[in-house]
Amino acid sequence: MELTISSASKILIIDDQPANIALLSEMLQDMAEIYFVSKSTEALSKAQELLPDVILLDIEMPEMSGFEVCKLLKHDPLTADISVIFISAHTEAEFEYSSLAYGAVDFIARPFNRAICRLRVQNHLFMQQQAKALLYSKQHIYAEKQRLQVTLNSIGDAVIATDTEAKVTYMNPIAEHMTGWLQVDAVGKPITEVMLLRDTESKQTVTNPVSLALTEQRIVAMALDCELVHRNSLESSAVEDSAAPIFDEQDRIIGAIIVFHDVGEAKALATKMSFLANHDQLTGLPNRILLHDRLEQACSLATMIERKVGLILIDVDQFKFLNDSLGYQSGDKLLKLLVKRLQTILEPDHTLARTGGDEFVLIFPDIVHIEQISNLAHNISRLSRQPYELNGNKYNMSLSMGISLYPTDSSDAETLLRHADVALFKAKQDGRNNFCFFSDELGQRMLQRHQQEQSLREAIAEDRLEVHFQPKVTLIDGNIIGAEALVRLRNKNGSLMSPAEFIPLAEETGLIIPLGKMVLVKACQQSARWKKAGITLPVSVNIAAAQFTEAGLVGLIEHLLQEYQLAPAMLELEVTETALIQNPQQTAETLSQFRAIGITVAIDDFGTGYSSLAYLKQYKVDVLKIDMSFVKDMLSDKNDHAIVNTIILLGQSMQIELVAEGVETAEQQAMLLELGCRYGQGYYYSKPLAEDDFMQYLKAGKALK
Ligand code: C2E
Ligand code: MG
Ligand code: MG
Repeated sequence: MELTISSASKILIIDDQPANIALLSEMLQDMAEIYFVSKSTEALSKAQELLPDVILLDIEMPEMSGFEVCKLLKHDPLTADISVIFISAHTEAEFEYSSLAYGAVDFIARPFNRAICRLRVQNHLFMQQQAKALLYSKQHIYAEKQRLQVTLNSIGDAVIATDTEAKVTYMNPIAEHMTGWLQVDAVGKPITEVMLLRDTESKQTVTNPVSLALTEQRIVAMALDCELVHRNSLESSAVEDSAAPIFDEQDRIIGAIIVFHDVGEAKALATKMSFLANHDQLTGLPNRILLHDRLEQACSLATMIERKVGLILIDVDQFKFLNDSLGYQSGDKLLKLLVKRLQTILEPDHTLARTGGDEFVLIFPDIVHIEQISNLAHNISRLSRQPYELNGNKYNMSLSMGISLYPTDSSDAETLLRHADVALFKAKQDGRNNFCFFSDELGQRMLQRHQQEQSLREAIAEDRLEVHFQPKVTLIDGNIIGAEALVRLRNKNGSLMSPAEFIPLAEETGLIIPLGKMVLVKACQQSARWKKAGITLPVSVNIAAAQFTEAGLVGLIEHLLQEYQLAPAMLELEVTETALIQNPQQTAETLSQFRAIGITVAIDDFGTGYSSLAYLKQYKVDVLKIDMSFVKDMLSDKNDHAIVNTIILLGQSMQIELVAEGVETAEQQAMLLELGCRYGQGYYYSKPLAEDDFMQYLKAGKALK
């Protein structure tokens, strides 16, 4: 093997014989820089000064023997590691032994054998260099390790190192903080125990990237939406990052490193940023960007489910004036108060956006009846007019609104907004503090409806509802066996309005509840008056679907029977098939409560609704009222005849009483009798009559045969 020695190597020759020095220098000059000392007393200081790799030390010297010099050299830490080779003319074994015992590495005998001498020196020079290199690498590695340690301890990311079995070998302080584990406890534990990762949503444990990095020997990114469960608090923090395998110089895997950091704050910041980008700063409402998005969504959904979307453009009347006189800050506060108020009447699927200083847009998705949006506009208008309190003062605001409808007014969101703007302009021109539809026709319809609703409200409030009574008779002899209470509305001009004109509106607006209650009260009062006059006549009252499913109905009726001292048999309720099937469970309950009290229940307009045998059986009603549409044409229309016949057979087989409605002729009466129907009501006997007329009718004992 050819050894190469750095030219920077030094050899110090210590010999009192100049000839020896010359000889050795000549022999070794190509291997290193050669220095010499001929006085043994100067040897130590020279060695300290030069720090040579190898010292060739003559044993026999006058002042101090080579052995003593060697002792001194070995004693001094600075020179202790220098390789000392003794030189002597003595070749005895004990000499050689003593030399080595003094700490020398070798022994060269004189006279010199050039080749052996060169080889020995060369070997020691090489070994010295190796030792120096080793020391240097050790120092270098130590420094590197220190640097790494400091880096890992001071970086903001958490770092955990593992061995090939995914057991922790190191963790930095951030990793300790985030996991709740101290390095001393964690070392040797599986990473899956120290670093418990789970899915943010499902809370299911997810595979630790270290395991994958080790098995697949590649860099593995952590699954998205991961959270790290803290050891002690069981709190968790959103984390992200990756794991990488570590290889040795032979490319063998020796472990893995995972680096991760908390992204909780980053996420919160991202959420906040996206909120700010889509919302108005003052009110926190969606801004124009989000509004567009929601509007597009609402429109495409409405198309799919064949519904409408309403858009209300809202503008605060004379807001500039308020702002200028009160200052911007107060103006802003007023706007916030307004928004807060509006939010109390909005449904969760409505979107209220702020699109300008005092301009708002409301999206009403999923509209079935356009009344829904005009009702909302009315409510907004009413609500906004209530005074606002600010800094101890009261202020008033009103709103102008423009309404457009998708797809009635336009099939694209952009045009819809423009149309709402046109409608808003109309509303402002009409004197503000109101709302307008983009479509004039719709506007008219809504206006009319609103007026009707107002007059119905007034009529209820002013007690202008009257109840008329239509006699119910036995078909065979025309004997009066009961009366149906039918409501009428007395207009301000004295004319009467038919229930067909206002009952549907009352049902839509919920006014049917107070209205129905009023009819019940009036019917009971009438029954009590008849009782007082010695007439025992059951009264039938129509009950709307909304009323029937209302919780207080049974209680109300019990109360009325009590108050007017009426036997339960004096009251019959007429319910439509539709009302019965709306909430089957509650219907069954309500019906059984009525049965328990002793009140009979009739199904009104039978045959026009569901006419399901199943519910007839289930609900056990007392009476079926055959709808007048079948009775009307039963003599000329075979189908109607068959229907009437079937209903009668059905009633008979289920022991349900039958009442034919709308009997207008003697022929109809005869046919109904022939088919087996016993009771009826209709113009043939009497139209519905006001209280006094009905009394007359009763007194006359009018009974058509
Ligand atoms: P309904 O309960 O089926 O009442 C019978 C309707 O038929 C009454 O109309 C009555 O005047 C009419 N009628 C009776 N005999 C004849 C006839 O021979 N020929 C014709 N063409 N019609 C006849 P009215 O009073 O206009 O009531 C209409 C509907 O309004 C009622 O139908 C009922 O559904 C509803 N209604 C009336 N009063 C009330 C009430 O107090 N509450 C509720 N919820 N609905 C009511
Ligand atoms: Mg009826
Ligand atoms: Mg009817």
